[in-house]
Amino acid sequence: MNLYKGKVLMVDLTERRISTEPLRKDWLREYWGAWGLALRYYRDLASPAVDPLSPENPIVVMTGPFCGTSAPMTSRFCLVSKSPQTGTILESNTGGAFAPELKFAGYDGIIVTGKADALTYLKIVDDKVSLETGEGLKGKGTFETEEALKEAAGSPNAKTLTIGPAGENMIAYACVGTEAYRQMGRGGTGVLFGSKNLKGITCLGTGGVRVADLRAFQEKISHYKHTDLFQDSNLWAKTDGTPVLMDLISEMGGHPTRNFTFGGNDAVKGINSDAMQSAKLGNRACASCPMACGKFTHINGAEMEGPEYETLCLGGSNCDINDLEQVIRFNRLCDDQGLDTISCGNVIGLAMDMKEKGRHDFGLEFGESKGYLEVISEIALQSTERGRDLALGAKGLAEKYGVRDLATEVKNSEYPGYDPRSNFGMGLAYATSERGACHLRAFTMFEDGPFDIPAQVQAVVRSQNFNAIKWSMCFCDFWGTMSPDILADLLTTALGENVSPEELARSGERIWNLTRLFNLAAGFTAEDDSLPLKIMEQPLKKGPHAGKVFKKEDFEKARSLYYQVRGWDGTGTPGNAKLAELDLERL
Ligand code: SF4
Repeated sequence: MNLYKGKVLMVDLTERRISTEPLRKDWLREYWGAWGLALRYYRDLASPAVDPLSPENPIVVMTGPFCGTSAPMTSRFCLVSKSPQTGTILESNTGGAFAPELKFAGYDGIIVTGKADALTYLKIVDDKVSLETGEGLKGKGTFETEEALKEAAGSPNAKTLTIGPAGENMIAYACVGTEAYRQMGRGGTGVLFGSKNLKGITCLGTGGVRVADLRAFQEKISHYKHTDLFQDSNLWAKTDGTPVLMDLISEMGGHPTRNFTFGGNDAVKGINSDAMQSAKLGNRACASCPMACGKFTHINGAEMEGPEYETLCLGGSNCDINDLEQVIRFNRLCDDQGLDTISCGNVIGLAMDMKEKGRHDFGLEFGESKGYLEVISEIALQSTERGRDLALGAKGLAEKYGVRDLATEVKNSEYPGYDPRSNFGMGLAYATSERGACHLRAFTMFEDGPFDIPAQVQAVVRSQNFNAIKWSMCFCDFWGTMSPDILADLLTTALGENVSPEELARSGERIWNLTRLFNLAAGFTAEDDSLPLKIMEQPLKKGPHAGKVFKKEDFEKARSLYYQVRGWDGTGTPGNAKLAELDLERL
């Protein structure tokens, strides 16, 4: 089979049963791979009412069609399940090299069901697949666990997915890590592993991935690399990586600083791209990527790959920690304990703001790094009262202490690093994202007219639909000029079947609508597509958008228009005509 391995690995942890099933070929031309295909599988396996922490909630890990080929920037993969953090459908993806390894081992994806009776890990070496005891790894961080799993697989080249103590202790914003510094960060992926007593997965494969016409495919790859990928609007990933956004978003007035109080950080030079370059040891790439956006850094014994923009922003500016060494330490600790840095930085920033406003004192202060670093393991290990409080997440903490006016979250997912008071499209993107506040569904920061509601609505819909298909193909976000035309051309050559850009565009819209149907069936309503009070009522301070709020009435106007453009009714429910157009009537 071209591009696909034609097999899914099925793992029932309760029964300790391992089997394979043929890939559902009848779904491929509608859902393609990764996010789309995993979502379709998940929809078939689980009810939207399922308890996310129960054995009945499956985890679907899925690769994309190009993973394992020489197509650049395609080694990402995803996990789909119901999120224990948000209660919505969840897709979380990451890079590294696990996805090609899984395909080399012979599988397009893994579906994990049930719950092991003790801590366990899954070992895959081609067609030799086993469940092994993970009891000796209890309480270990992701770095140590990763090394142990590679050793158990018999090779340092084995690729792994692991959780740290945060996942074992089921902290709402625990994540799954891979390749030491890459994370499936959002939505509580680590909790899903923890709830199943699954400490990790290790994989080693020796096969390959077939394409229809190898010579033609290589020529296309070379052509698009030189005519599209290697242009200035993408090459920032190679030279600077995401830290380049620090100065840019700060100057634009949308950079969350001191718990989303300011839209820019006056001390940003301590943690911007230049600071990163001064601390840089070298670059690191995901498999098959010529951009190598990852930057290894080292300061005074603190070293890691990263931090990326989101961590520099939420763990740096948002906590007013403008010392790169301390942010590196924060990032490394979060990665090792298995905590999402966006949520963790957001929650710590909220706790610091509570102290500043005299609402509660957790011993955490803006700009003070000692408590900021100490509290990370307190959260993951649940070892102190403040650790247990901060583990509640921004919403839980705000509800417990009566500070809803200070929290920035949607559907219990903390805001990423772009303030909607500087760009209304980002507020709408966070509100309508299927997995809670997320900047990877629609990104409108560089669209014209940041407060032009009709233009921003169109940009959000366009971006959500295209990203749904781009993530399903597993092309990295940082091939920013990627288009449906290029995707269709590469697929046609590699599959040996005609694929049109229109067909792909329709698939993207189908995937987005299927997530909506799931969330509606899980009990979410238009009321949940919301903005935090802070964004609606508290004017942004400093910068080009000082004084700006995204007023409730403006947001509701944007949300209504968004539903209309999508072909949904006033309650945000897809209409019959839209469902028929997308072949979704039966789902
Ligand atoms: S640009 Fe960065 S994140 Fe994207 S595939 Fe390349 S190394 Fe991985």
